[in-house]
Amino acid sequence: MIDFDIPAGLAALRDEIRAFVVEQIVPYETDPRLTRHGPDDELRAELVELARTAGLLTFQAPKRFGGREPSHREQAVLFEAAGWSTLGPVALNCAAPDEGNMYLLGKIANAEQVDEFLLPVLDGRQRSVFAMTEPDGAGADPNQLATIAEFDGTDYVINGRKWLITGAHGARTWIIMARVAPNPHGPDGPTLFLCDGRTPGIELERVMNTMDRNYVEGHGVVRFADLRLPASAVLGEVGQALRYAQLRLAPARLTHCMRWLGAATRAQSIAVAHARTRTAFGKPLGEHQGVSFMIADNEIALQQCRLAIWWACWALDSGAKGRHESSMVKAYVSEELFKVADRCVQILGGIGISDDSGRHDFLRHARLPALRRPDRSPQIRDRPAGTALAVALLLGGRPRRRQRVVQGRIQRHGLVQAKQLNWAFCHRTVRDDNELT
Ligand SMILES: Cc1cc2nc3c(=O)[nH]c(=O)nc-3n(C[C@H](O)[C@H](O)[C@H](O)COP(=O)(O)OP(=O)(O)OC[C@H]3O[C@@H](n4cnc5c(N)ncnc54)[C@H](O)[C@@H]3O)c2cc1C
Repeated sequence: MIDFDIPAGLAALRDEIRAFVVEQIVPYETDPRLTRHGPDDELRAELVELARTAGLLTFQAPKRFGGREPSHREQAVLFEAAGWSTLGPVALNCAAPDEGNMYLLGKIANAEQVDEFLLPVLDGRQRSVFAMTEPDGAGADPNQLATIAEFDGTDYVINGRKWLITGAHGARTWIIMARVAPNPHGPDGPTLFLCDGRTPGIELERVMNTMDRNYVEGHGVVRFADLRLPASAVLGEVGQALRYAQLRLAPARLTHCMRWLGAATRAQSIAVAHARTRTAFGKPLGEHQGVSFMIADNEIALQQCRLAIWWACWALDSGAKGRHESSMVKAYVSEELFKVADRCVQILGGIGISDDSGRHDFLRHARLPALRRPDRSPQIRDRPAGTALAVALLLGGRPRRRQRVVQGRIQRHGLVQAKQLNWAFCHRTVRDDNELT
């Protein structure tokens, strides 16, 4: 029933990607254009040209856009190979946020929007952003969306403030989440807009100083000040932003995990090499039991993460929405890879925290997943299914009816009790979860 074999064609492509990253991209890891705000646009453009020449650029794209259209499970193998260097996905054009944005646009953009906004990103000529998170509004709870779009029957006028917007500096394809205010001309509610980043009214306040430097041009704080967009700028349908965000979220969670796994595997290989050659108390570090235990724990964690990712990918490939599967896997993988990175630093000793190792980015990168956990929990972005479902499953009965019962109980007794029971969610079947979606 379960086959873990990697077909020859897929293995060959994986090896090609790995060789490309090792031979052509790794040397750029000391390039000064890899700044504290991530690779700059000039470095990105140079890397993209290398991938284009190698015939590997945007390999994950659908065939109708010139890509190889790998399944989610195939992506798991290929993205892990790309993640060996944090610059690998940048070169191959399968890094966040572009990769998730391309996926979303491929699903819901109309023909004109594809031509103007998606094709240049697929081709690596432009970058994209997804602007959702707000200092005083949307975050773990996107229902708090505070950016407002007023519709006068012809144009939308958008006002609001966003932060943590990856790649905002210099990106041209902008996906903006805003709440259309009630109006006499049509529907309202959370909506996605698509526009050019040079449109007047998009103001980049600053690029934030963050712990990572893996994302092109870092993360921006952005103000929309009377940003005027025509009705044709609506992406998909008015009022459907949260549904579209979910569409993007499950696969994007998993591709994050795949790239992190590649980076963590590299960190482990560096730690193992150090443990082989560095000696202490008369023998190589790796021959001390405490160190060998850490290496073994890392190997176990890496393989468990790989299998978890493959499982969630299988669910998506089988037609499930994968909301809960991807959520569980992202929570698990981020925590496990954090521990892997931590043990790698321990094995490397003092050099593990220094730039002298030339390896800090992998260790930093593998630690970063912990930061991405804010959106991990089923009870947060997948509300209310997470908590409600967890309690419902414990009470027995059919899920839909149970959910109504439980929502009533939650209203009466508060969420604390529901949260305490949330662990049970992890033990239930995929089929049950999907009945609620
Ligand atoms: C590296 C990086 C890149 C990012 N890029 C983008 C981007 O390009 N575009 C974009 O829009 N956003 C981006 N984000 C932001 C990201 O989407 C948010 O961090 C995430 O949605 C959580 O929102 P928040 O940070 O405002 O956390 P908050 O909403 O302030 O939550 C803070 C903490 O409270 C916890 N919490 C909230 N509710 C509950 C609950 N019910 N039960 C238990 N715990 C809870 C959260 O899990 C979190 O740990 C990025 C973030 C990071 C770290």
